Amino acid sequence: MPAPVILWFRRDLRLADNPALQAALRSAAPILPLYVLDETPDLRAPGAASLWWLDKSLAALAADLEARGSRLILRRGPAERVVADLERETGACGVCWNAMFDPGVPARDARLAEALAAEAVEARRFNGGHLLSPDKVRTKTGGQFSVFTPYWRAARPLVNPGEPAPAPAALSAPADWPGSDRLANWGLHPTRPDWSKGFKDWTPGEAGAAARLDAFVHGALKAYAGDRDRPDREGISRLSPHLHFGEISPKACWRAAQAAALRGEVPDAQVDKFLAELGWREFNANTALAAEARGDAPEKVNVDRRFDAFPWRDDPKAFAAWTKGMTGYPIVDAGLRQLWTTGWMHNRVRMVVASFLTKHLLIDWRAGETWFWDTLVDADHASNAGNWQWVAGCGADAAPYFRIFNPVTQGEKFDPDGTYVRRWVPELARMPAKLIHAPWAADKAILSACGVTLGLTYPHPIVDHGVARQRALDAYQSLKADR
Ligand code: FAD
Repeated sequence: MPAPVILWFRRDLRLADNPALQAALRSAAPILPLYVLDETPDLRAPGAASLWWLDKSLAALAADLEARGSRLILRRGPAERVVADLERETGACGVCWNAMFDPGVPARDARLAEALAAEAVEARRFNGGHLLSPDKVRTKTGGQFSVFTPYWRAARPLVNPGEPAPAPAALSAPADWPGSDRLANWGLHPTRPDWSKGFKDWTPGEAGAAARLDAFVHGALKAYAGDRDRPDREGISRLSPHLHFGEISPKACWRAAQAAALRGEVPDAQVDKFLAELGWREFNANTALAAEARGDAPEKVNVDRRFDAFPWRDDPKAFAAWTKGMTGYPIVDAGLRQLWTTGWMHNRVRMVVASFLTKHLLIDWRAGETWFWDTLVDADHASNAGNWQWVAGCGADAAPYFRIFNPVTQGEKFDPDGTYVRRWVPELARMPAKLIHAPWAADKAILSACGVTLGLTYPHPIVDHGVARQRALDAYQSLKADR
C-alpha cells in the first residue's frame, strides 16, 4: 500500500470545492483526513458558541467521509506537533491544507512546512477560504488598501470563481487507520448549563450550508439590497457561520448568485450588493493580515492610532446590562438577546448595539469584540475586529466617530412595526408600533394596558440619548484637542 497523504481539515469543513482535497485526490495516494483541536499557546482560542458549531460541523464532516469509505481522525494538542507526529506515525508522503490567516497561523504553518520539508515530506497549501488570497490584493504601487470602494474596484475583476469541484464519490482509505479521539470526549457541546437550546434552527455542516445558499438564491436574494437592512424580515442569507467554518466556499456563493442573475431570476443590482458583502469579508481579511504584518493584533490595536488616547469609560454595570439586553433601548436589547439565544445577530442590529456600546456607553470596542467572540457562531477574527473598529470609528475606512446612531430612530426605520423587538423582547410585545422603540414616551395608561411597568418589567433607559450623545462627542473632541 502506498504511503498516505494527510488531508488536514481546518476551517474548510467540506468535501466540495475544496482545493486541498482536490490536490490530495490528484496525488492518487490513500487519503488520511485529520482535524486537530488546536491548543497552540498564543493562538486565540475559539469562543463557546464557535465550539458548539464546530462540534456539529465535525460530526457532519465525519459522517460525509464515512459515507465515502473514509474517516475523520481527531487529535488535539498544538497543531504543529500533532501534524508532525501523525506524519511520522503513518509514514505519510505529504500533507495538504487550505490556508488560514488568523494571527499567528501563517507563521506557525510556515514553521510546520519547513519541519516537514526537513523530513522530505511535502506540505501543499491552498486558498480555500477566500475569493482572493488576502495577501494578494494590493494598490497599483504595491501598497495596502485602506478604503473599501477602491479595494473592491481593484479586487472584484480579479475574482475567478472557477468551475465547481464536486465532492468525490469515494476516498481511498489507508491500509491502517491511526487512532482517533472521540468527538464526544472533546466536550465542545455545553453542559451544566446547556445554553444552546435556542441554536436549534442552525444546521451546521456542508449539507446545511448548501441548503441555506439554495434557499437564499431562490428567495431573499431577489430583494437583498433593500431587505438586508431589515431585521424584521428574512432578507439576508445567514451564511456567515457556514462561510466561517468553510462548509461552503465563497466561490460557490459567488457562482450561485451570478447564475441566478444569468438566468434572469434576480436583478444584477441585487446580486452586485450581495457580492460586495462577500467583498467586505475579503477586505476585512486583507486589512487584518496587513495589521498582523505590522505586528498589530487586529482585535487589540486601533487601526487609527489616534484612538489610543480615547477616554473610554470603565463601567462594569453598564457593560453587564448591555450583554444581558437590559439597556432599556428595545432595538439594542432585542439584538443582544437574539445573540445570546441563537448565537447570531442581524448585521444592522450589530451596528446599532456596537455603536451603543462605544458611543452611548463610551465602553471600549474591545470589550464588545470579546463578547461577540464568545457568543457568535460566526465569530471571525478579521470580520469581528474589522467591523467593531469600523463602528467605533478607529478602523480602516471607518464610519466617522461623530456619526452616532439614535437607537430609537434606527428601530423605527428598520423595524417599523416592531416585529423584531416583539420577538426578542416579549415583555414589550403588546406595545403599539409607534411607541415600541421608545416605551418611556408612552403615557402610564398605555403602558399599563400593555402590561409594562418601566423599572419593573422592562428597564428604564440606562442613559439618556441626548446626554450620552453629547458626552460621546465631547470625548471625541478631547481626542482631537490632544493632537
Ligand atoms: P449576508 O448579508 O447574507 O452577507 C453574505 C456574507 O457576506 C456574510 O455571510 C458574510 O460572510 C459577508 N458579510 C456581510 N456583511 C459583512 C461585513 N460587514 N463584514 C464582513 N463580512 C460581511 N461577520 C462575521 O462573519 N463574523 C463576525 O465575527 C462578525 N462580527 C461583526 C461585528 C460587528 C460589530 C458588525 C457590525 C458586523 C460583524 N460581522 C461579522 C459582519 C456581519 O454582521 C455578518 O457577516 C452578517 O450579519 C452575517 O449575516 P449573513 O450571513 O446573513 O450576511
